[in-house]
Amino acid sequence: MLVSFSFDIKHADSNSLARVGTINTPHGPIQTPAFIPVGTKATVKSVLPEAMADLGAQALLSNAYHLYLQPGADILDEAGGLGEFMNWPGPTFTDSGGFQVLSLGVGFKKVLAMDAQTFRRDDVIAGNKDRLAHVDDEGVTFKSHLDGTMHRFTPEVSMQVQHQIGADIMFAFDECTTLHNTRPYQELAMDRTYAWAIRCLDEHKRLTEERTTKPYQALFGVIQGAQYEDLRKKAATDLGSLESSGQSFDGFGIGGALDKGQLGNIVSWVNQILPEDKPRHLLGIGAPEDLFVGVENGCDTFDCVLASRIARTSAVYTMEGRFNLSNSRFKRDFTPIDDECDCYTCTHYTRAYMHHVFRGKEIISATLATIHNERFIVRLVDQMRQALLDGNFADMKADFLGRYAHRSGQDRD
Ligand SMILES: [Zn+2]
Repeated sequence: MLVSFSFDIKHADSNSLARVGTINTPHGPIQTPAFIPVGTKATVKSVLPEAMADLGAQALLSNAYHLYLQPGADILDEAGGLGEFMNWPGPTFTDSGGFQVLSLGVGFKKVLAMDAQTFRRDDVIAGNKDRLAHVDDEGVTFKSHLDGTMHRFTPEVSMQVQHQIGADIMFAFDECTTLHNTRPYQELAMDRTYAWAIRCLDEHKRLTEERTTKPYQALFGVIQGAQYEDLRKKAATDLGSLESSGQSFDGFGIGGALDKGQLGNIVSWVNQILPEDKPRHLLGIGAPEDLFVGVENGCDTFDCVLASRIARTSAVYTMEGRFNLSNSRFKRDFTPIDDECDCYTCTHYTRAYMHHVFRGKEIISATLATIHNERFIVRLVDQMRQALLDGNFADMKADFLGRYAHRSGQDRD
């Protein structure tokens, strides 16, 4: 098996942990830092793959849990893999499903990052809700959110599912906790994630050798540990040096419960320990201000559903901050969403038109707003990459946040 995966660092910033590099995959390179748009169910909702390529997306990330339930990982395998199936010729990622099976289990579908002070007890997560998932040392048993059928994910099953889906970059199956969990529970979950990481490496090795005709798929370990410095550092130390069946992780994902105010600390604790020559992906982070924190603290790639999800509700990112196009003040505004944006939407349509299609609930509203938001975030990270190469990242950051944060405060609906 030819291991056609590598990471080359082209430039390391002297004032921070940031670096510029290239991740090489069997489906092409990714220039980093890079934002990876999310197509959860093998589609970026409402947008054609060609439009994603045109707006500068270098890779797409889909979700193993959703694709396992529908249409089934075997269908994607038969189709020739995720990229072939969804008509995306470039690199692809899948996340392991750990986040989804567990976040459905505790009843939070979307938000894991929240104020650590709000809840303390483990039993809060069960609440009055019927739990959809139960975790034990072997794996997670969960109920499908689609039809209520029972399923079980173990590290081995997650690897089998992700190999069938066939993305270039996969993530190890981890136990994803929330800030609701107590410190003793976080420790337990971290030990479990470590044991599961070994099982993922073993199964990944076995499947790689079994499926010799398939392109090499890289496996990233996932660093947990919530907001605790010692736990995060331990996870980075243990997983960073882990080798099993002669196989180590090709890169790392930083995941789990975190307080947004602690993001920079958490990422820097971890990235100062992880092997420098392997790529680091910050899972589920994609708000403009957080991307700067991630980049300057040594993360190479990012994914987040926010850009497309908020677009469908008429919320757009601009240099003037984030606002909602359905607001009546845009009814006669014949300027682009963002006059500094070079996307298809901004070069062909006005705020007044966008306001009209959102008010009329026209399908094209989602398409046009998603193209703009994805372009805005992809381009912002591209600009960070260029600023690192030019040696003016700090100025670029201050300039962007000065305008963005200032105007956001004024313009938020
Ligand atoms: Zn635009």
